[in-house]
Amino acid sequence: MLPSSLKNLIDQLSKLPGLGQRSATRLAFYLISQPTNDLNALAQAIKDLPVKIKYCPRCFNLTSDSSLCAICANKNRQQNLICVVEDILDIIPIERTRQFNGVYHVLGGLISPIDGLTPDKLRIKELVGRIKQLLAQKIQPEIILALNPTTEGDTTALYLEKLLKPLNFKLTKLNRGLSTGSDLEYADETTLINALKYRH
Ligand SMILES: [Zn+2]
Repeated sequence: MLPSSLKNLIDQLSKLPGLGQRSATRLAFYLISQPTNDLNALAQAIKDLPVKIKYCPRCFNLTSDSSLCAICANKNRQQNLICVVEDILDIIPIERTRQFNGVYHVLGGLISPIDGLTPDKLRIKELVGRIKQLLAQKIQPEIILALNPTTEGDTTALYLEKLLKPLNFKLTKLNRGLSTGSDLEYADETTLINALKYRH
């Protein structure tokens, strides 16, 4: 039988996405063979996460302290052009294109009732708040929905379109040069640049 500390590590690792019991066991045995310094550094990096990583209070991107993230704080970026994405990882490929000069709003998931993800679990209220704040300042927002072309992505887009329509402002979607089922995260740069340019 395995020592309880090792069993505990395997249990924790197998909670990670993509790691089943078997690969978690293999990874745990790999870790056993590593130098103490490396193990301490890994443990510390994980321990630091809840303390050092914060979310931007405006867009929910990552930030290093409790103030606005680097994108929201950048005065050269159009604060009224808001690209709505599912999660933080979706920001990276769009930023890489250097073609987007607006800001983001991270929903924190997509509507999927089967998984318990109802609209109230996502940062939709906060998005509506941002839009209303712009409108109150007589600034016309443009919202670009950059959600993945999956059933959940389409459901969420449809929900947002219905919800936001009465507010009467420009709402566009990324052009589906992004083929159905393909993830924003893996879209190549040219495809993304075109998707942004020909949004509709
Ligand atoms: Zn931000």
